[in-house]
Amino acid sequence: MRQDRLEKYRKMLLEMRQEYQAELQKVSNEEKNRDRTEAKDSVDQADSNYSVDYQMARTEKINRGIKEVDEALNRIRNGEYGVCQVCGDEIPEGRLQVRPNALYCAQCKEDLEKRGEIK
Ligand SMILES: [Zn+2]
Repeated sequence: MRQDRLEKYRKMLLEMRQEYQAELQKVSNEEKNRDRTEAKDSVDQADSNYSVDYQMARTEKINRGIKEVDEALNRIRNGEYGVCQVCGDEIPEGRLQVRPNALYCAQCKEDLEKRGEIK
């Protein structure tokens, strides 16, 4: 892939990373606020368990997103960016523009999802 294209995707990835980190910050702030209210009165236990699970799922999802972005940035550095990790085909640019952290081509991603290996 041409250098100027790579640079464009690198910028997009860095922006994505910042958004993820802002999101992570938001979740952890919500967490702190929740802890404070719960210290005052522990109301509905089931409800608060649900909220902990939800927060954890969100944090996990964001962390996974950051990992994908970091992986894509590494691949730019190694000159492997835009190549499917499974079949080695080039990932179409149309797909990278929508999802610059894509690690697989659409076909392989679908296969992996069907097998339950990625979500
Ligand atoms: Zn593939």
